[in-house]
Amino acid sequence: MGDCTGESEAVPPAQRRVVVALDVGGTGMKCALVRPDGTVHHAERHPTRADRGPEAVLGTILDVAEGLARKARADGLEPVAAGVAVPGVVDEENGIAVWSSNVGFRDVPVRARIEERLGLPTILGHDVRVGGTAEARLGAGRAHRHVLFVAIGTGIAAALIVDGAGYGGAHGGAGELGHIVVRPGGPACPCGQHGCLESLGSARAIGLRYAELAGVPGATAHDVVTRAGQGDALARMVWREAIEALADGMVIAQALYDVGVFVIGGGLAEAGDALLGPLRSGVGERVTFHRVPEIVRAELGDNAGCIGAALLALDHLESV
Ligand SMILES: [Zn+2]
Repeated sequence: MGDCTGESEAVPPAQRRVVVALDVGGTGMKCALVRPDGTVHHAERHPTRADRGPEAVLGTILDVAEGLARKARADGLEPVAAGVAVPGVVDEENGIAVWSSNVGFRDVPVRARIEERLGLPTILGHDVRVGGTAEARLGAGRAHRHVLFVAIGTGIAAALIVDGAGYGGAHGGAGELGHIVVRPGGPACPCGQHGCLESLGSARAIGLRYAELAGVPGATAHDVVTRAGQGDALARMVWREAIEALADGMVIAQALYDVGVFVIGGGLAEAGDALLGPLRSGVGERVTFHRVPEIVRAELGDNAGCIGAALLALDHLESV
């Protein structure tokens, strides 16, 4: 070890390890250097600009990942792996983004392209599943072995995490809680069904419903929660109906999975107790013989995807 520099002697090699992590969404990319304990050394954001086409988006991912690896080295750290999360259908085994409509990916070999550019072992994960993994291991689900992470934003998706490992299903498509039908004959959903949970309980659906009934174009779920709190009868009705749909969906999920805790993330979770309070009562009232799960708010915020992608990349390193 005669060539050790002063800096590397000051910080033991194991503590210099970081993972290059990217959580790629339809609007933006959350990017970070994450330490093995899940803490974030450095974070940055970049627009996805999916309208440029998949090759340009992949080009940005490669440039950002390379820039993060360079930043790590400049800070005296050692990038040991890369973890990337994308939405949609993900073939985690082969590292292929099979279908991510809002990013524009179809059968894109993301993992191979990153490994080629960075020279680092890389994993490709599903955004909600990696976010759920982070919440289950380090966030709001850490006291439980069986966790259902439910992300409620523009859409609704869930991830079942057991003993810290996400369940992806036979085809990478598990957890589509947003597309279980809770109101047969209800509003049309882009998936082709009617009355999907996502078309009734997502932040987007709540805003649209109120906009339509109140004649307030552009109203958001945040507006609905605020107005409901101020006593606006229409906003209260829209909010109550959305919570009822969410509670119906969660009781179905609990019948299937029997988890210890539901960790609620995504934009709608920012409503805090205005969401969690009535959701807890709604689920409690509906459950008959099943055990009522705890219902808590996610703790890691919108860094959960990056942290989870980094954790999976570290798991992968240990398994090879
Ligand atoms: Zn649907």
